[in-house]
Amino acid sequence: MLIVQKFGGSSVADADRIRNVAGIIAENYLLGHEMVVVLSAQGDTTDELLEKAAELNADPSKRELDMLLATGEQQSIALMAMCLEAMGLPVVSLTGWQVGIRTNADYSAARIRRVETERLRRELDKKRIVLVAGFQGVNKFDDYTTLGRGGSDTTAVALAAALHADRCQIFTDVEGVYTADPRKVPGARKLEEITYDEMLELASMGAQVLMNRSVQMAKRYGVELEVLSSLVRAPGTKVKEVTRSMEEMKITGIAKDENVARLTVADVADRPGSAFRVLNAMAQAGVNADMIIQANGREQTNDISFVVAEDQAAKAREALIERQKAIGFDHVSVDRDIAKVSVVGAGMMSSSGIAAVVFEAFSDEHINIQMINTSEIKISCVIDAASADRAVAAIHRRFFET
Ligand code: ASP
Ligand code: MG
Repeated sequence: MLIVQKFGGSSVADADRIRNVAGIIAENYLLGHEMVVVLSAQGDTTDELLEKAAELNADPSKRELDMLLATGEQQSIALMAMCLEAMGLPVVSLTGWQVGIRTNADYSAARIRRVETERLRRELDKKRIVLVAGFQGVNKFDDYTTLGRGGSDTTAVALAAALHADRCQIFTDVEGVYTADPRKVPGARKLEEITYDEMLELASMGAQVLMNRSVQMAKRYGVELEVLSSLVRAPGTKVKEVTRSMEEMKITGIAKDENVARLTVADVADRPGSAFRVLNAMAQAGVNADMIIQANGREQTNDISFVVAEDQAAKAREALIERQKAIGFDHVSVDRDIAKVSVVGAGMMSSSGIAAVVFEAFSDEHINIQMINTSEIKISCVIDAASADRAVAAIHRRFFET
């Protein structure tokens, strides 16, 4: 069996953790499997490298930043190789360059175009454990690129797809994907399985277990993923196209995102093109607007509200104010004290009445819903931030604790 494993930064943070991971790799190798292992930079290395860069240049070129960031993962693979060598196992470490992970030219947010498999195959044929630096590739200028924060997940999925791996395991510091944040909801339980689409919804809402792009890629290439802990020996959560529970479970998980802000553009002229001008201002500023609502105001005007990532709120507001004359509105208000609570489940497609149960939970808790947005597999509500944990717990009780 060919197994691709990926270990995140916390799993290789120090010598003890590296030894622990080496044990997991060795165990699988000694069972006769072909092992390709992707590693992240140790602990907070990537953040520390960014800090070092900032000390010397407030705005370094992205090329040099990638040159620097790529070194973090290189340390991990070399150290892991030494540890496995000391255990007497055949091993080789390879950078993205050595493997031939070709990306587009986009420094710091590169996309993988192609993965060469020759070198990997050759090393596997020599019965070596192959360690690959995550998060990095090479562009058409033969320069190092990085794939964006959390990019090692994407490296692992790309390798699993290119090698037609039998298994792709993503090891992290949590035991899998839960029905809700287990630190906040004591009754939360680990999911055996989750669909790609559900995972994408949960990931984009702050359940930061897997990088979104890695899930998109896994879906596209049909790579089944398993998320599991490197510290606790227990089965994790499988991420796949269709799950058994889709039929039985009405919902799969509840997530909360507090890093959001609501913008309201007040008294926009009620005429064709207004919404376009407001949202176009966001597009030009590079701000992602979500949950867009238009409400009728007084005399020939509307209020247009939407949600943005909290760290983009200032930029969004500026972009609107700069264009106030052209768009035609009275003022913009920003509310940062909000949270988005989302209920996700592929089972929603086939069972009715789920929205009513969700809204009843808010009602019983006397929590006012400010905005609502639904899709085939998701119901999101914007509420005030202070009530968010209570809302999640109440919804969780209704669906999972009866
Ligand atoms: N080391 C990179 C980061 O911290 C990539 C990764 O860990 O996946 O974002
Ligand atoms: Mg990660």
